[in-house]
Amino acid sequence: MLNLDHPMAKHIFAAAQMEDFLLVSAQRMTLVPSTERLAILVDCHQALDEMRRLNHEQFSASQFISDAIADAQESLEQIANLGGGNITENKVDGEGDCASCGSAITKFETYPQSDRYVIVCHQCVRPFMQAKSKLQSSQGFRTCFI
Ligand SMILES: [Zn+2]
Repeated sequence: MLNLDHPMAKHIFAAAQMEDFLLVSAQRMTLVPSTERLAILVDCHQALDEMRRLNHEQFSASQFISDAIADAQESLEQIANLGGGNITENKVDGEGDCASCGSAITKFETYPQSDRYVIVCHQCVRPFMQAKSKLQSSQGFRTCFI
């Protein structure tokens, strides 16, 4: 459990917010047409820049975090450019198969009876999930302790 009185706590929470933003963006990118993916990617680049600034100012410019951010950026660009940038189908309703890899789209409720769903192609989002684990780790932003 994170010590909320620790001076680093607010910076760790700030990192967690950016990680969540990237996660939601990565999940959505696996579902939408290529043109929309590229628009989402622009916002991701902004969040990644904020993460770099946070790393520089509050996490002693950690090389590990810097590498994890680079991995996250690469994975997001990879997802944005799947299908050679020619995907026109929209799968945000969670029905059917992924327009890029053909896997079944996953749809599940975030909490039982919450009526809020996570919809994603688990196969296509995988590279980002690996980068995210690195960002969250004890060598990263330590957001795994929240
Ligand atoms: Zn897929």
